[in-house]
Amino acid sequence: MLARMPLTRRRTLASLAAGAAALGAPAWLRAATSVSADRFALGVASGQPRADGMVLWTRLAGDGLPDAVEVRWSVARDESMRDVVARGSETAHAADAHSVHAEPRGLEPGRWYWYRFDALGAASRVGRTRTAPADDASATLAFAIASCQRWDAGFYAAWRHLAAEPLDLVIFLGDYIYEYGARQGGVRATPGGAVRSLQDYRERYALHRSDPDLQAAHAAAPWLVVWDDHEVDNDYAALQGQDLDPGFAQRRAAAYRAYWEHMPLPKSARPRDVELRLYDRFAWGRLALVHLLDDRQYRDPQACPRPGRGGSNTVALKDCPSLLDERRSLLGAAQERWLADGWSRERAWNLLAQQTLMSRFSWRDPAVEPTYWTDGWDGYPRSRERLLRGMLAAQARNPVVLGGDVHTHYVADLKRDFDDPKSPVVASEFCGTSITSESLPQARIDAALPFNPHIRFGRGDRRGYMSFRLDARRLQCELRVLDDARRADSAIATAARFVVEDGRPGAQPG
Ligand code: FE
Ligand code: CA
Repeated sequence: MLARMPLTRRRTLASLAAGAAALGAPAWLRAATSVSADRFALGVASGQPRADGMVLWTRLAGDGLPDAVEVRWSVARDESMRDVVARGSETAHAADAHSVHAEPRGLEPGRWYWYRFDALGAASRVGRTRTAPADDASATLAFAIASCQRWDAGFYAAWRHLAAEPLDLVIFLGDYIYEYGARQGGVRATPGGAVRSLQDYRERYALHRSDPDLQAAHAAAPWLVVWDDHEVDNDYAALQGQDLDPGFAQRRAAAYRAYWEHMPLPKSARPRDVELRLYDRFAWGRLALVHLLDDRQYRDPQACPRPGRGGSNTVALKDCPSLLDERRSLLGAAQERWLADGWSRERAWNLLAQQTLMSRFSWRDPAVEPTYWTDGWDGYPRSRERLLRGMLAAQARNPVVLGGDVHTHYVADLKRDFDDPKSPVVASEFCGTSITSESLPQARIDAALPFNPHIRFGRGDRRGYMSFRLDARRLQCELRVLDDARRADSAIATAARFVVEDGRPGAQPG
């Protein structure tokens, strides 16, 4: 319903404009209506909800923009924008691709708001957003996790369905763009080649933001975002690209800058030199603490790559003893410490939002020949052990790990020791499938599942997302799956439901 509202509004403006032209209506109306679709063609977004405010985002589009443009924003308590409670303005600079990151403060905790931008006589669509509940308030939370939306692998029917759900929050876990050039047989065209320069990255983001279903999802609720590899380069690790390209640091800097320009991130996150600080925490009243991790920017290079290359590999443990090197980290020492020091004992749930599957996943029988993919947590097992040890030492309440990256719906029990069948389950894990990107053949996943009994569900043959309802007593999860992501009008269904009860780690069929 909400997704249709702005279309209705645009249609109303368009018919007003047609009428205006015919009837000689005021010039301001003709000006506003003739350019409004162009200037705000990339939509609006909001993110990082706090108890007293959030970040509002847009980027001006179209030809002939001045270097600096004043963009006014307003926040209202109603959808028709009558009861405005905050307003301000930002200057959109050409040097920032005319992106706008506005940060209203002083709003009431735990309520919905609507927002709109105005510039150059044009108005954006109205977006819906909300504040987090007050720190000491009891609360519920409806949220979804999503990841991996390769443009030419499908249409964004998943976003259309997600935007129609009553969600408080969307958590995007990486691969917002893919850096690849067009390929044969793509479901839709990808203009341009492989993405390398700042201009390339900007155009790739703009391409994605031109999609009405993705725009609807951004306009429906605030998002929390982290990246994975494809926002820069497949399988990169810190300042090392998978091709060991000596110019990689420059490429990463361009990619990080374009990422900041296009995401609802605060001004303080603007990248400095080659760094963009993304990891952060978000409280949702007394209910939950969301820990948002960055497993790309600070990681050690993957162990045992193919000769002459960086990036991932799938290796038998016996052939790659450096996997077990204590010094190797997926998060970097500073972020590992930050996480160990920040688990909540007071809030009912700790939601660990990060990129990929955390549970061990061996592609062969681990009793015979443990075999791991080196780009995920299996490539950094000591780093995972430290994380789990720190979580247990802090007595983190109800830890739930959320992930993406592997284009497969996995539901898993995180064990203290995966080699010991009697080892306790210490956390629950939900790793969601992709919005569009393809997975491995299901037969390969099915063949490996018996080697990984702590994985309770593993299906990579459908695209979609995971939808959650959380209260103090339980977490309910629905695994949402499209009939066919190659169709813009694809229907959606629920493949399975799981529940995590307060005080009982591990997902039960729900
Ligand atoms: Fe992906
Ligand atoms: Ca990835």
